[in-house]
Amino acid sequence: MKFSANNREKFLKAFRTKSFDLIVIGGGITGAGIALDAASRGLKTALLEKSDFASGTSSRSTKLIHGGLRYLKQLEFALVKEVGSERAVVHKLAPHLVLPEKMLLPLREKRGFGSLITSFGLKLYDWLAGVVGKDRRLMLTRRQTLRREPLLKKDDVKGGALYAEYRTDDARLTIEVAKKAVKYGAVALNYCKVDKLSYSEIGSVNGVCMTDLISQEVIQIKGSVVVNATGPWVDELRELDKSLIGKRLHLTKGVHIVLPRKKLPIKQSIYFDVSVDQRMIFAIPRGRTTYVGTTDTNYDKEIDKVVIDQADAQYLIDGINENFPKVKLRVKDIESSWAGLRPLIHEDGKSASELSRKDEIFISPTGLYSIAGGKLTGYRKMAERVVDMVIDNSPIRKEAIKCYTHKIRLADGQLINSRAVRRYVNQLKKRLPSLGLRAELSSYLVENYGKQTEKILLDLSKFSDEDRKLALLKSELHYTVRKEMTCSSVDFFMRRTGRLYFDFKSVIKYKDEVLDALTLMLDWDENKKQQDAKRLELEISNARNFLQKQ
Ligand code: FAD
Repeated sequence: MKFSANNREKFLKAFRTKSFDLIVIGGGITGAGIALDAASRGLKTALLEKSDFASGTSSRSTKLIHGGLRYLKQLEFALVKEVGSERAVVHKLAPHLVLPEKMLLPLREKRGFGSLITSFGLKLYDWLAGVVGKDRRLMLTRRQTLRREPLLKKDDVKGGALYAEYRTDDARLTIEVAKKAVKYGAVALNYCKVDKLSYSEIGSVNGVCMTDLISQEVIQIKGSVVVNATGPWVDELRELDKSLIGKRLHLTKGVHIVLPRKKLPIKQSIYFDVSVDQRMIFAIPRGRTTYVGTTDTNYDKEIDKVVIDQADAQYLIDGINENFPKVKLRVKDIESSWAGLRPLIHEDGKSASELSRKDEIFISPTGLYSIAGGKLTGYRKMAERVVDMVIDNSPIRKEAIKCYTHKIRLADGQLINSRAVRRYVNQLKKRLPSLGLRAELSSYLVENYGKQTEKILLDLSKFSDEDRKLALLKSELHYTVRKEMTCSSVDFFMRRTGRLYFDFKSVIKYKDEVLDALTLMLDWDENKKQQDAKRLELEISNARNFLQKQ
């Protein structure tokens, strides 16, 4: 089935009429990963997301596919080994979307670890993750460190280290995984909220009752196994199942701020500590911006309304000014932001930062599977474990084949490796001006869509706007509505293009035109259009929430 927003009725019909082997609740990276794993092994799979795909934590991370260097300090060797090795696998599956990025780790007098321990730690990190060749860690002298990042506070830098990580776009990764799951036969739909679970006469879960939040239709879906992959909402679903006993979630909030690159013109990604609480934070250049994060604070408010507050913003701004004294940033320099919740598993007596990032699977007495914890980076392995367990424990499709998602490349028209990605970026740089577009847009397009960019450029001629950037935006909208289930302007600006974070001004400039175009594409009436406009304004204001109390 085509993953098109104009095709929703076909997806809903499948929910009404089919009976599934597996129903996955939650369209974040965990749920999308499980759906792809299950569908590719031949299981009849449904994936239900109450808002948009990746609208939970999976669009609000630091956007790194990383081994989690700091988990070494917590002696979580198995976790570092698994996610460290997964980096290379996920990079191979989507080299345009998971890009190698060297991380600079400055070493300071009387702060953090010494150079000997760091050198050993990074060597262990490389070894656990199977890093080879020139990607292995490189220790730097004070001079080399300051040459790599001249903006660093010079007084106490005594050296540094460079090590390999990957950067990504978490929401796009989730959407590509969900898209691929649909290609393998999964029926996956956003704006489908599970309200209730249904049970057999002997009390085993055998389906769900969901509401399509667009048409308000209520549908009963039958499924042999139900998996709860709802991230921060996992306990809400366990409560519905009356099985919230024993281990519980412990939610911690993490925020990121986005600054214009010219205000924080660092030369590369950097991981540095903040003296007020000795935590480490990242600063990562992306396009015309640099983003910085994150915080890690306990959270017990409404899960559906997580926003940055002024204290979060000030903490990160102070951390930057302390480490890069020349930039002299103020909260009002922040262009955009996001806040997310880590769905961690509670451990008595441990602080937010000390809690393990390991995933765990709970099976309730009714047979509901819930998966909690984990990281974006480890999504594929987590999915494999869940589906293995489902197949082992139940009569469904015992003949199902073994997991092979490590061979399923994401995104159509694959670019096979980093070299092919670079070559394609350079090719586009030459082609874009002849289409009336700036050459610099090539990196944005390739890192978002990979080779799928060709489809967007092909449709560009359908849009006659004199402002070609607007025409491009409309062509992207057209593509993402028809191929990626974009159902609202927020889906488009936040999760299909990342513009609400990384090109904030373009959202303000073009939002009305995009709304008009979307109204036509989705055949909305005026009421629907106004509702959508309101939701977009809310997200625009949330991204700048820190300004409200200035
Ligand atoms: P989510 O993405 O939250 O998905 C759950 C989904 O379930 C949501 O979309 C929600 O709408 C849906 N849902 C809830 N209830 C229902 C219902 N009743 N019916 C239907 N759908 C429902 N990991 C990394 O590997 N690298 C990083 O750099 C990194 N940085 C991070 C930084 C921060 C600040 C945070 C918070 C996390 C970070 N992580 C990182 C961890 C990673 O982002 C998460 O582990 C991952 O995104 C969790 O995905 P998920 O699918 O389990 O949850």
